[in-house]
Amino acid sequence: MNLRIGNGYDLHKLVRDRPLILGGVTIPHEFGLLGHSDADALTHAIMDAMLGALSLGDIGHYFPPSDPKWQGADSLVLLHQVHELIKAQGWQINNIDSVLIAERPKLKPHIKAMRDKLATTLQVNPDQIGIKATTNEKLGHLGREEGIAAYTVVLLSR
Ligand SMILES: [Zn+2]
Repeated sequence: MNLRIGNGYDLHKLVRDRPLILGGVTIPHEFGLLGHSDADALTHAIMDAMLGALSLGDIGHYFPPSDPKWQGADSLVLLHQVHELIKAQGWQINNIDSVLIAERPKLKPHIKAMRDKLATTLQVNPDQIGIKATTNEKLGHLGREEGIAAYTVVLLSR
């Protein structure tokens, strides 16, 4: 069996008057993530990890922020497209493991919904998708609630 590993990182700024969407799930909060698309940092990190595993570049290459087509885009739709790309090369997802870093709100109550949404989009079992949430212990930009970051590792097999 052929295996490939990839990692992804993403960060979006927290601002007022934007929805907070992570893993395709809208989370009630007084701030949301700023970005050209829906700014779903978790889904973006997963896409970058999948592309990175196959040395296919990054999401900015496939969905450039300069293209108005991706304005407000649902990142799960973009994730589906990246999945199609790796499937076309005969690869499948073995597992995904992610860490979300947010001082607030508490993300733990929403993790199951995120895993279910991502699993449905990627046609895998939710137990193949790990998501953990932590804070930054009030340190630095993440600790000051200026943004939310996501790290992801993905293992692909063929
Ligand atoms: Zn992003």
